[in-house]
Amino acid sequence: MTSKRTRIIVDSDEEEVGSISSPHSRRRHIISNSTAITLQRALNPWFHVAHDARSMPWRKRYDPALSAVQKAQRAYEVWVSEIMLQQTRVDTVIPYYNRWMQTFPTIKDLAGSNIEQRLLEGAQLVVDKFDGKLPDDATVLQASVPGIGRYSAGAICSIAYGKCVPVLDGNVHRLLSRVLALYANPKAKATTNLLWDAAQAIVDDAEDPGAINQALIELGSTVCTPREPKCAGCPINTHCNAYKWKLNKLSTDMEDLCNVCEPIPPGPPDVTLFPMKVEKKAVPEETDVVCVVSWQATPHLAQHYLLRKRPATGLLAGLWDFPVVPNVSSSTSFEEHARPLVRLAFPSVDDEGTLQIKNVTSIGSVLHVFSHVKKTFQVVCIQLCGAQNDDSDMPPQVTPGEWMDDLQQSTDVPKRPTKKQKTEKKPKDEDEDRLKWVLEANVGQENLGTGTMKVWSLVTSKGGASKKPRATRKPKAKLTDDDEDDE
Ligand code: SF4
Repeated sequence: MTSKRTRIIVDSDEEEVGSISSPHSRRRHIISNSTAITLQRALNPWFHVAHDARSMPWRKRYDPALSAVQKAQRAYEVWVSEIMLQQTRVDTVIPYYNRWMQTFPTIKDLAGSNIEQRLLEGAQLVVDKFDGKLPDDATVLQASVPGIGRYSAGAICSIAYGKCVPVLDGNVHRLLSRVLALYANPKAKATTNLLWDAAQAIVDDAEDPGAINQALIELGSTVCTPREPKCAGCPINTHCNAYKWKLNKLSTDMEDLCNVCEPIPPGPPDVTLFPMKVEKKAVPEETDVVCVVSWQATPHLAQHYLLRKRPATGLLAGLWDFPVVPNVSSSTSFEEHARPLVRLAFPSVDDEGTLQIKNVTSIGSVLHVFSHVKKTFQVVCIQLCGAQNDDSDMPPQVTPGEWMDDLQQSTDVPKRPTKKQKTEKKPKDEDEDRLKWVLEANVGQENLGTGTMKVWSLVTSKGGASKKPRATRKPKAKLTDDDEDDE
């Protein structure tokens, strides 16, 4: 883009208006005290309207009169919600959060359990070292509690304790890149430092910093969206440099020149050019077979679906999904890739018993792109019927094993279990807690990742595993907590 400049009159002061790529002052990327006050005045009421319109169980107005214990309880609620929101969408988090708080209403309840490793370690440390109260100092919180980074520390301390500390998640990063018209590598230290400084300036001396931070997060996710920001209705558009640039109203100040921004590519001015896009490296492509295993006592009763919990570390840690045969070759049909996994999970399906594989059907594929790999999920529905024992209302027992962890097989197809493996009694271990049968109506309420939600949408769009209308009567036996919710 050329450095073409024009001169126009802005607010009665004659100012020079420049192209975004022309030399400009660092001050363009700094929030002054007076701007911070104006932003706070715009953000606070906007957030309270948004808060009432989109209520979430963990969102409560800050009350400075709460006792230290009550504020610490709020900190626990914010912490749990933030961990969940980092993994999946708000709609999915709400029921999961509600169930979580019923099961572990306080941090001490969580610390005394053995259920969720990611939060458990932090909860036990807080109980041991901080008398069960998450610290109200963001620096201490970040340094002491495993799993809490700068963003979560800022969210917890501002929302629960009213501390003037900033947040910078992906949504706020995009929003502030536009407000500052910062065209620089978004991952560079100089860029993130400027954005954190701006986020700090915006909450400095705020009466309710938690509301300001939540306003920035909400504004970034609902108004200043990646592709179609709603600038005309944005409560802070008069202080947004990217928007001013679009309207040809961005003034140029040549003092203390910025050395962070890079030239903007030629083209019409548009706020969506911010933040700067960095060229992504080509990512490998893989095909996984997703095994949607279902079981039904009789054709008139509800389907149950088998979910497994992903390991506590690694990709999508702790989320629930369907069992997967990873990175398969195309030389074998997707159905044939799925069958051996089913035999590992249900060794008795090959015996003379009543539990049988009724159908194995490939129903299509969904594409899901991770930052490091592009996955095609080939979805195979496996319908089981019959029972392992006399109680035909009980879903069949699942045999845990390595198949649960997407282990790369030496060949793409898992080996069939040996006769010894089939008869061997497996010790009852923690793997069993990572498997459960869930009623069809409840699958969408589970803590699923986005890719698994896409798979589930495909399954339901095809009419579920059986493609037959199902009655809603529950089986007599208690199966999982989720089944209880359905009663
Ligand atoms: S004016 Fe537009 S670009 Fe600027 S913050 Fe608002 S929505 Fe984002």
